[in-house]
Amino acid sequence: MQTPAKIAVLGAGESGTGAALLAKSKGFDVFVSDRGRIKPEYRAVLEAEGIAFEEETHSEERILGADIVVKSPGIPENAPLVAALRAAGKEIVDEIEFASRFVKGRIIAITGTNGKTTTTRLTWHLLREAGLDAALGGNIGTSFAALAAAGDHDYFVLEVSSFQLDNCTTLRPFASVVTNITPDHLDRYEYRMELYAAAKFRIIQNQTEREHFIYHSDNETIARHLETYRGEGRPERHPLSNSVFETPDELVLGTLRVAKDQLHLRGRHNYLNIACAVTAAQLVGVSDEAILNGLRTFRADPHRMEPVGTFNGVEYLNDSKATNVDSVYYALEAMTKPTIWIAGGQDKGNDYSELLPLVPGRVKALICLTTAPEKLREAFGAHVPVVRDAGSAEEAVRLAADMAVPGDVVLLSPACASFDLFKNYMDRGERFKAAVNELPGRSIESMTSNP
Ligand code: ADP
Repeated sequence: MQTPAKIAVLGAGESGTGAALLAKSKGFDVFVSDRGRIKPEYRAVLEAEGIAFEEETHSEERILGADIVVKSPGIPENAPLVAALRAAGKEIVDEIEFASRFVKGRIIAITGTNGKTTTTRLTWHLLREAGLDAALGGNIGTSFAALAAAGDHDYFVLEVSSFQLDNCTTLRPFASVVTNITPDHLDRYEYRMELYAAAKFRIIQNQTEREHFIYHSDNETIARHLETYRGEGRPERHPLSNSVFETPDELVLGTLRVAKDQLHLRGRHNYLNIACAVTAAQLVGVSDEAILNGLRTFRADPHRMEPVGTFNGVEYLNDSKATNVDSVYYALEAMTKPTIWIAGGQDKGNDYSELLPLVPGRVKALICLTTAPEKLREAFGAHVPVVRDAGSAEEAVRLAADMAVPGDVVLLSPACASFDLFKNYMDRGERFKAAVNELPGRSIESMTSNP
């Protein structure tokens, strides 16, 4: 790339600050501009590095004077400043794109509506357990640019959101992964699924036959989009279908066979995530033995089908991260015991109809944890024997514990955002876990399996 002298970075969050650090380390003249207040930890980084910045304003003239502009994913395409930059013919790139121009290591980029974090962390774990030099970041943890500023690696395993792909023009991952595409964030894409899918498919647009595309071929939107795909990308395709790699007891991926009861990740959605991660690891040459080892030692992140413990013979699961209908689909599908389901929160225009077939025989009670239970009650009232309302995680757990008998599962899997009652999904999950841990009658097995 020809090195422009001046760079403007819009937004000083994780990705903007990372981009500024990388730009500085590469000798650019950097200016950071954030229309909001900059968080103290990022401000401290900019100050320590002597990087020029402003907050609570955008100095349009100075920004327009830059040769290249790195835009944070949170800034929408229709923001007036972005329009002005476009009109002036400035090159606007995403932080992921910018960082990709400065690393030699192979990129494994993982996107999808659900399953990104699990698949990204698992892929990284498999590479690391095999002794490879792999860095983890992107949309989780450290931004790609901040990783790149700290030094090169043989592999960068990156979680990438569709917003981070909107302005990626030359990004060419060694392996791209799309776990699934289901409705979410449609407000950013004119409520059109095909635009949302097209944004995700930008991940393959520069890939050649030498690169790889791993995807869930059972996913209708992916399958449809691939059929009509007219983009430039020509990666080798690795379709993954549960009906092909999954037997009742095992996952079979090439020469690798792994017994389901050796895995900590549960549910069909996680088998898909595992298949994606294992395929990526196989493509970089990790041996079956090392993969098996890595699968045995992997633990999922909190709030994703997280076992909280067993109390009086009742198992409690925290799936607070399930903030859309599709993720709840897989959670309910994985339930093999009578389930008391805690759901609800801030509705995102949910259509619950696809969950209805999973409810009879599985869900014995629904507890609506929300300030607005009407929609859930309307959708499930006629299908679930008992429906109750709760105004706090503590109340929901109390109601559930009162109803439960040994052998039941209590599942928090909300299908909604958390902001009506909680700070975020983590707060919701933590409060749920704290309330569960206050319950009497914890069993010994659950204490050892979940210290
Ligand atoms: P993301 O980073 O894309 O939000 P996570 O791995 O954090 O994905 O999982 C988010 C939620 O979606 C969790 O409730 C999880 O159980 C569920 N989930 C994980 N993988 C999948 C998948 N492949 N398909 C559908 N839902 C999934």
